[in-house]
Amino acid sequence: MRGISNVPRTIFLDRDGTLIENRHYLSSPEGVALLPGVCEALARVREAGAKLFLFTNQSGVGRGYFTLADVEGVNRRMIEMLDLGADLFTQICIAPERPDEPQVYRKPSPRFIQEMLAEHGLAAETAWMVGDSSSDWEAGINAGVRAAAIVPDPAAELERERRLELGVDAYASLLDWASAVFG
Ligand SMILES: [Mg+2]
Repeated sequence: MRGISNVPRTIFLDRDGTLIENRHYLSSPEGVALLPGVCEALARVREAGAKLFLFTNQSGVGRGYFTLADVEGVNRRMIEMLDLGADLFTQICIAPERPDEPQVYRKPSPRFIQEMLAEHGLAAETAWMVGDSSSDWEAGINAGVRAAAIVPDPAAELERERRLELGVDAYASLLDWASAVFG
């Protein structure tokens, strides 16, 4: 009998800069542009039976730039464009806090990840947080799951030092990460 497999069973995904193009304070569904390979990556992940969660910081809500309903509209459009079913994500966390107010769910808070692992009886050992920012990796590490960085352009990597400090591996795309961990 084999021990616990390292194959990912649970994946927490950042949205902006990881699944879709990072457009600051995106509030309109028309602005959604999927990043290359994301659809194929998520199809592969789902085929492997992993559970997916979307975990996005949206301080534009706390700042009053747009509403939670606007963010939900953007998410809906993204899910529609992915065309992998409306139930692609088991649960979605939109953290609305501004950076200068008390943080509840805002990454690097591990709270959403911890709650989902507990609620769904999921093992931290086979869970990942995948994103393009240090707050994503820190949220994952703070929750005791593995972290991966999406870095499309290594020459322009802004948080390289922090990433190396945290010991987080970089992948050029979500598809590269999925290919590496699912084979
Ligand atoms: Mg991001």
